[in-house]
Amino acid sequence: MRDKIKALEKVSKQLDPNTEIRADWNRDVLNYADNFIEQLDSTKAYSVNESNGKGIYDQDITEHATDLKTLLKHTSKDIDAVGINPAAAGHMGYIPGGGLYPSALGDYIAAIHNRYAGVFYAAPGAVRLEDMLIRWMCKLMGYPNQAVGHLTSGGSIANLVAIVTARESQGLKANNIPKAVIYLSEQAHHSIQKALRIAGLSEAQLRYIPLDEGLRLSISHLERAIIDDKANGLKPFFINASLGTTNTGAIDPIENIGEIAKKHHIWFHVDAAYGGFFRLVEKLAPKFKGVSQADSITLDPHKTLFLPFGTGAVLLKEKTHVLKVFYYLADYMQDTADANEILSPADISPELTKHFRGMRLWLPLKLFGLKPFRAALEEKLLLARYFHKEIQKIAGFEVGPEPELSVAMFRYRTQKGDLNEFNTKLIKAIQHDGRIFLSSTTINGVFWIRVAVVIFRTHLKQIDLLLEIIKEKINELET
Ligand SMILES: *Cc1c(COP(=O)(O)O)cnc(C)c1O
Repeated sequence: MRDKIKALEKVSKQLDPNTEIRADWNRDVLNYADNFIEQLDSTKAYSVNESNGKGIYDQDITEHATDLKTLLKHTSKDIDAVGINPAAAGHMGYIPGGGLYPSALGDYIAAIHNRYAGVFYAAPGAVRLEDMLIRWMCKLMGYPNQAVGHLTSGGSIANLVAIVTARESQGLKANNIPKAVIYLSEQAHHSIQKALRIAGLSEAQLRYIPLDEGLRLSISHLERAIIDDKANGLKPFFINASLGTTNTGAIDPIENIGEIAKKHHIWFHVDAAYGGFFRLVEKLAPKFKGVSQADSITLDPHKTLFLPFGTGAVLLKEKTHVLKVFYYLADYMQDTADANEILSPADISPELTKHFRGMRLWLPLKLFGLKPFRAALEEKLLLARYFHKEIQKIAGFEVGPEPELSVAMFRYRTQKGDLNEFNTKLIKAIQHDGRIFLSSTTINGVFWIRVAVVIFRTHLKQIDLLLEIIKEKINELET
């Protein structure tokens, strides 16, 4: 048996490469990363080609080892060169991503030391680090010190955790779900509806509250709906307020909604996945008034803290109900019970073993300090307003509301033919060009093109280029 084990060991040791191999691989990966970053200025924000990534199938899993250079070539050709490039300054579609460089280093460190950041006993330092980041976010949102929260993989899971906790807190059980009412606007992010389905609440009633002219949830309609529902024997259960809708960046009247929720004992959730970190811009503070009244808040560092994809956050003002949902002590984990000085992520989240996400967030925040984050967010805000102003100077353009955050909307009022059809052609032409990527939306049957300025690399130069591209495409389409 010893001989057999020794023979296996010889092969299995390949999983632990020596210094020279590591040095080779490090060099190759750093070269790849440097090339990628240095070419960003000239790479398109959106590209399609014939193979559309199919070449990656040549690298299906086999018994044999493949050299890293080959794999990186495939990465460049089959992954990087097709679709939307979320690292590019020209990506202004949907809510674009980020990818701060120090986050990559944070992920590298987290993968090397592989600390078990789900449980305090296993990794007290790692759990404290994530707790410190959550404390910082709580403070930013005006939450009290006894608030809890954890880093999720994104905003959708954060919304799910909030909804499940609300369900527990409001004592919803199978027999009263059909009477439960959820209040939201049509501009709420679809992850709310998805989370309701996952949480077993699809039989509950969705009450869509009309919008005001700024596409914000209308307060007077909200309270009337609640009163009517109560009179009809229903149970108002959950209000979702968007702090920055994905479509237009509109901010629902948070403070008023909070007062109504409190008065009627309804769970108040603020979905600030896109807008939350704009709180770092001091002059926007008034828009955040009342956020601290929320029972739960969703934030998304992979949006407005410019992190690479895979980091959201949920904050809960009070820990009782979230513990009721997520806390377990498995028999095999009995050693961990007494050692916990602070709550572990596993106690208040659906995950147990998890990525140590804190490292990719902490490193950039510490290496840069907050100042450049505040500047970048204010810059994005002003870039959206600048675009909104400049596009109106070009004959024929119509715009959506003045951007509250960093999303602007526009469309061209052609004299020839249907407006929605023309603007569909316009967005296709912009996307086909690819230097800047925009996406579109439909609000009350009207087709709008959106400009979402969220990438940290997006500056004045790209907005000016966008204005040029739009003029160029209009000329082509109108002749
Ligand atoms: C993006 C977004 C979400 C979903 O977050 P993911 O990180 O994509 O899962 C939820 N709500 C709002 C307002 C968003 O903008």
